[in-house]
Amino acid sequence: MTTLPFHEVFAQQQAYFRAGRTLHVNERRQALITLQAAIRRMEQPIMQALQQDLGKSQGEAYMTEVGVVLDEVRMAIKHVRRWAKPRKVRTALTHVGSRGMIVPEPYGCTLIISPWNYPFQLAIAPLIGAIAAGNTAILKPSELTPHTSACLAKLIRDTFDPQHVTVIEGGAETSQQLTALPFDHIFFTGSVAIGKIIMQAAAKRLTPVTLELGGKSPCVVHADADIRLAAKRIAFGKWTNAGQTCVAPDYIYVHRSRYDELIHELERAVQQFFGEDPLNSGEYASIVSKRHFERLATFMDNGAIAFGGSSDATTRRMSPTVLTDVTWEMPVMQEEIFGPILPVLTYDSFEEVERAIIERPKPLALYLFTNDRQLEQHVISRISFGGGCINDTLMHFATPYLPFGGVGESGIGRYHGHFSFQAFSHEKSVLRQTTWFDFSFRYPGSKHRFQLMRKLFK
Ligand code: NAD
Repeated sequence: MTTLPFHEVFAQQQAYFRAGRTLHVNERRQALITLQAAIRRMEQPIMQALQQDLGKSQGEAYMTEVGVVLDEVRMAIKHVRRWAKPRKVRTALTHVGSRGMIVPEPYGCTLIISPWNYPFQLAIAPLIGAIAAGNTAILKPSELTPHTSACLAKLIRDTFDPQHVTVIEGGAETSQQLTALPFDHIFFTGSVAIGKIIMQAAAKRLTPVTLELGGKSPCVVHADADIRLAAKRIAFGKWTNAGQTCVAPDYIYVHRSRYDELIHELERAVQQFFGEDPLNSGEYASIVSKRHFERLATFMDNGAIAFGGSSDATTRRMSPTVLTDVTWEMPVMQEEIFGPILPVLTYDSFEEVERAIIERPKPLALYLFTNDRQLEQHVISRISFGGGCINDTLMHFATPYLPFGGVGESGIGRYHGHFSFQAFSHEKSVLRQTTWFDFSFRYPGSKHRFQLMRKLFK
């Protein structure tokens, strides 16, 4: 961790960027290769830190944190030279003689603020985009996962010149001091409430932002769904990281005719994944802090508990819990749950579901379990949401070929794979005009100017 005042760290990064040190694409690629090697080298300490902060099992930590990031970095190494190349565009009839191109250029000095729920992945995945696009970066990880933050700081310190990439640890106050600096781009992942604060701070300098936020993501199980499979995939999406996933199904809407079966299959899936006693399962994560644990505990008396409901305050573990008889007026349905509690509502006609979703802020994710292609098409074309899956949960997040981001209150911008490169680049338009000839009709005073213009701009 740096000991310099933040504005000096920033000034050094700015000087580094202005000296053109991040521009050469081969050096960006080399930086990514070095990062990849550092992640591989520190795989064990990273997973240990994730175990200490969130009780993540090795399998889960590798799949959702280290593995995803290695996939991203591998892709960036493979394609960064192509991504960074100027792209020629077609020449309009009105522009005969000229050549147009799009030149990706780095924004400059970037700030990445990350949350605690996937503290390694959500810090490093955007960083890969920032480096690939040729920026400097200051990374501010979450104060709630101190072991992982310390691990990140070490990894970055051992790998990069701090003028290029550095970590600054701290909480809200640190974030506020950082967002007051004249960054060229801010990439924030966290809650909607803090996203608004970040955007306000950025607005003072018109700093562009990417906001990866949250919200209540619905999961709809239609009458024709394969219930056993749906339950397994919902249980996976909901109880990975004990529900502390931005794209976890927040609540279920199930067709009334399949309700009992779904509850039964969800319980069965939980037993299959975490055994009879999830609170003591090595596969099941803990709640990040006492405050979050207590917040979640207040939801337990909303509606009725179908299964689960047990917890252990000393280990901050809370069992996978399904709530029934829930209404939209209850606190559990008023805010993002972000924990292992899953309310299940029923519907008779899909219109009820559609109305409930579109009346509320646009969700980050939506999941639909059905084999009805017409319903699928209807949902895709009529309901706005950041991204989602048909007959699965979470998996759209984990592929670098799909852009990941929210819409409306769930976020601004997108990343992953090539989209991360674009998130950290300005696409500069350049038109190179010929000097061989010059159309006189474009100039004031030329003969037939008006008639020719009318022909050209039909
Ligand atoms: P948070 O908004 O509380 O904190 C995120 C970051 O902002 C942390 O680094 C924190 O130190 C900083 N911060 C806190 N208060 C601040 C302030 N007043 N001013 C400036 N910075 C401040 O979020 P969290 O609790 O760490 O994460 C949970 C939230 O993040 C959930 O809403 C979840 O849906 C969302 N999330 C979204 C994504 C996504 O990719 N869209 C991923 C993970 C989490």
